[in-house]
Amino acid sequence: MNSLTELKGDATALHLAWSDGVRHRIEWRTLRQRCPCATCANPPPSPSPASGLGLLPVITMAETLPLKATRMRPMGNYAYAIQFSDGHNTGIYSLEFLRRLGEEASSTP
Ligand SMILES: [Zn+2]
Repeated sequence: MNSLTELKGDATALHLAWSDGVRHRIEWRTLRQRCPCATCANPPPSPSPASGLGLLPVITMAETLPLKATRMRPMGNYAYAIQFSDGHNTGIYSLEFLRRLGEEASSTP
């Protein structure tokens, strides 16, 4: 498996360089949406929408702010725990998962 030779974040995205020379850029928002933690993988059922009233979906304050990581912590040699600016911090991103997200991100124009 490839290892990381470089890992850095800017205001909008995480930049990765892999041992095989491939470089990826993954937006924090994408990382947050694809959070692999148990809570995000199995979200609690959302309250039933007020159907037929044409209400707009409620957007919380956190969702209106630009999302970024506030902290990244290595978990052994194979994964990183990312804390996001919305306070979420239970996602553990394995290198394998980051690589897959990076490949998906670069295949979309
Ligand atoms: Zn999560």
